[in-house]
Amino acid sequence: TYQHSIRKPYISELAELDKKHYLHPTTVPKLHVENGPKLTFSEGEGIYVKCLNGESYIDGLSMLWNVNIGHGNKELAETAKAQMSKLAFSSSFAGFSNEPAVHLAEKLSTMAPGDLNSVFFTSGGSESNDTAFKLARFYWKLQGLPDKRKIIALKQSYHGVTIGAQTATAIPAFHLFSGSGMTEVFHATAHVTNCELGDKSDPNYKGCIRDIVEREGADTIAAIIMEPVQGSGGVHMPPDGYLQAVRKLCDEFNILFIADEVICGFGRTGEMFGVDNWGVVPDLMCVAKGISSGYSQLGGVLLKEKIHDTIVQYDEVLAHGFTYSGHPTACAVALKNIEILERNQVVENVKDMEIVLEDGFNYLKEKHPTVTKSRALGLLSAFELYADREEGIPFDQSILSATEVVEECFKRKLILRPLVSNVGRNIVAIAPPLIINKQQVEEIISILDDAISVFEKKYL
Ligand code: PLP
Repeated sequence: TYQHSIRKPYISELAELDKKHYLHPTTVPKLHVENGPKLTFSEGEGIYVKCLNGESYIDGLSMLWNVNIGHGNKELAETAKAQMSKLAFSSSFAGFSNEPAVHLAEKLSTMAPGDLNSVFFTSGGSESNDTAFKLARFYWKLQGLPDKRKIIALKQSYHGVTIGAQTATAIPAFHLFSGSGMTEVFHATAHVTNCELGDKSDPNYKGCIRDIVEREGADTIAAIIMEPVQGSGGVHMPPDGYLQAVRKLCDEFNILFIADEVICGFGRTGEMFGVDNWGVVPDLMCVAKGISSGYSQLGGVLLKEKIHDTIVQYDEVLAHGFTYSGHPTACAVALKNIEILERNQVVENVKDMEIVLEDGFNYLKEKHPTVTKSRALGLLSAFELYADREEGIPFDQSILSATEVVEECFKRKLILRPLVSNVGRNIVAIAPPLIINKQQVEEIISILDDAISVFEKKYL
């Protein structure tokens, strides 16, 4: 029987079309039009992705921290097909509804902590965060406190790229791109628990959340937003007690706590939601990515009952919403994704694989003097590369240590991501699909071992 094999010229033709017609997000445009796409993916299975050139790679970052269930899941594909064939799209504006959206809303309320019992659907993480800011302001307005409008985010945070979310994002490149964003957003020092508990003698007090609240006045502040574990800003773990301290502070000053669970949600950290690691219930909880494992574009903001109950008293139009809010196919896929997460005990697997990963990090640290500051919560993990880890001396900024190690991994068919810290591009992030097994984690560690050896040979 005839089998079509992909012609080499087709791959280069496609690359030319890509360079000419396709402007890529978060890519260096000049390099892209010079070199063409780095890889053009065509298939995926489990933790592996295959490219047009026939090469197979381990997806060490679940693409964009989102393919939690792994690639090539046929059940999700069948679910999408069935829903699309039945009702591909329906409006959720003006009181219209659809079955998958209602079922998903109910399912989320049973999974989410506390009384986060209703949801406003969006099509992704940025839209969810912008929606949360608007809902927070709207809530305070309905409470007769329209001056509570300001938002506090943390340094090193990533919340997305729509104007509101981008303003809350604290990674400088995203601000350089478009200049001014939303007004009334402040960035506080991250993870200074004692300061948030009120210890003014702590040298980090100036610039902590509490300091900003006292300076600006709680009656002007709508909400504090944070990722339970910071992702793109460097995989920074909060110290134990930090989220609880912020929750307490929010209660003390009558400020809403928004948890950005876009990466942490749906099992990534070894609990269903990141906040579950510390038993904290936020007032608004933003989700996206892992809700559908990336198989459909979906996000949402979960609301605590007190916020929901206030908003449902409003007797005019709630003038907010996206065409794809409550998209039936996206919601059907998310429901099936959650069913698979639960049925296959994927979150339990994450906890088991965290141990294998941490053992792997210990092995790397023993063998390689540059490896330091390894951390993992579930399968959200990273380590750093330092010139002298005992003395805490980073590599010179001219040495892009993480980029070099990631490039060496890439040559060995493992995709990872270098992240920028305050001492340079020296953080290597690892966040594979949550269905990964022990041998596959070990394979990632072995590739890292070889890659770091090459790097150390060059620079030590
Ligand atoms: N919030 C966090 C924590 C994220 O990591 C991201 C994306 O990486 C976003 C928000 C933005 O989500 P999206 O790209 O779907 O708009």
